[in-house]
Amino acid sequence: MSVYEIGLRLQGKSVLVVGGGSIAGRRVPRLLAAGARVLLVAPEATTTLSDYAAAGEIQWEAREWRSGDGDDAWFVLAATDSPEVNAAVAAEAEARRTWCVRADDAAASDAWTLAQTEFDGISVAVSASGDPRRAASVRDAIAAGLRTGDIDAPRSRHARPAGVALVGAGPGDADLITLRGLELLRQAEVVVSDRLAPQELLDMLGEDVEIVDAAKLPYGRHTTQEQINAVMVERALEGKFVVRLKGGDGFVFGRGAEELDACLEAGVPVEVVPGLSSSIAGPAAAGIPVTERGVVHDFTVATGHVPPGPQSKVNWAALGAGNGTVVLLMAVKNRAAIAAALIEGGRSPQTPVRIVENATTKNQTVRNCALADLGVTEAHHPSVIVIGDVAGRAREL
Ligand code: SAH
Repeated sequence: MSVYEIGLRLQGKSVLVVGGGSIAGRRVPRLLAAGARVLLVAPEATTTLSDYAAAGEIQWEAREWRSGDGDDAWFVLAATDSPEVNAAVAAEAEARRTWCVRADDAAASDAWTLAQTEFDGISVAVSASGDPRRAASVRDAIAAGLRTGDIDAPRSRHARPAGVALVGAGPGDADLITLRGLELLRQAEVVVSDRLAPQELLDMLGEDVEIVDAAKLPYGRHTTQEQINAVMVERALEGKFVVRLKGGDGFVFGRGAEELDACLEAGVPVEVVPGLSSSIAGPAAAGIPVTERGVVHDFTVATGHVPPGPQSKVNWAALGAGNGTVVLLMAVKNRAAIAAALIEGGRSPQTPVRIVENATTKNQTVRNCALADLGVTEAHHPSVIVIGDVAGRAREL
């Protein structure tokens, strides 16, 4: 069983989908991404499909299929759970010379949906002589290769993005960067990196990529932040595509605002790519939900780099008086003073605390204590400190 591969350009073209179950649910988003005008004919539809219909993204006729439904269609998907209906849909499509995929019976189907993946503007579709599992596993291998860069997909010079991308690299594990972040990193000509950004991400960059280690910039009369801004802007103005790679999310205690402003002021195009912040991902990696239904209705992320007192902008008394989860970043040094301020504000000294160090990396360590003992419990940088009832309910992973 072999096929002739072809790419259908469906922009603005009608596609008939018969059946509103999970197969249609999986195919419709791709059809919409390709720009198709989808007519769904099915007495019932999954919630996702009916949401698409409610939002006007597809047209849904809530009834059984009938002859003539495919009159306007360029392409038909027969995906009901009735082989008879699928056969009738397919037979009518064939009579009209319209390509039709029968989801229930590959052997009886005129067209096949291939195992598909997409990364950074590349779309790959795999078929394996009618063996969908084999096709899917090859597809998965190709998808992984594109993501890791083992399969090189260089762009021509003019197709590269321009300016600066402020990319959140996630909490530590290199796999926790977003797909968009990785896509942009692959195209970078200059990468300005942080100490907390996963180093494995830098190892996979090509030899010709300039890596600027932000921690090693000389700063003389200027702060390192000014130096970082200057390097980013200079390189971008030279016409290079710059990725500023930061740990976690660049806008959570990451000085992302200053970097964004520097680009905007210099008239450099800039894209912000959110990252998984260690403030949420760190606790999660240790089995701690920052909110848990029935336990808390709020969580607060605070920096502890300034101890409680006139210098701190945090209302520690209010956090102590509340009962939500408190997540502390940059708080290792000042943890004793912070615990005292929270207790002073009204938190019970028995409040459970978990310290998650090197979260999501192979060196992740978790320690437990009561709030009263936070100051005398071992903790090292980088750590996320989680205070509140959710910390006492953590599951062992
Ligand atoms: N923008 C980052 C936070 C920068 S502030 C983010 O969104 O995650 C730096 C602080 O983040 C560290 O002092 C520590 O409290 C925390 N942190 C970052 N990575 C961490 C990790 N892998 N494990 C534990 N804490 C981490």
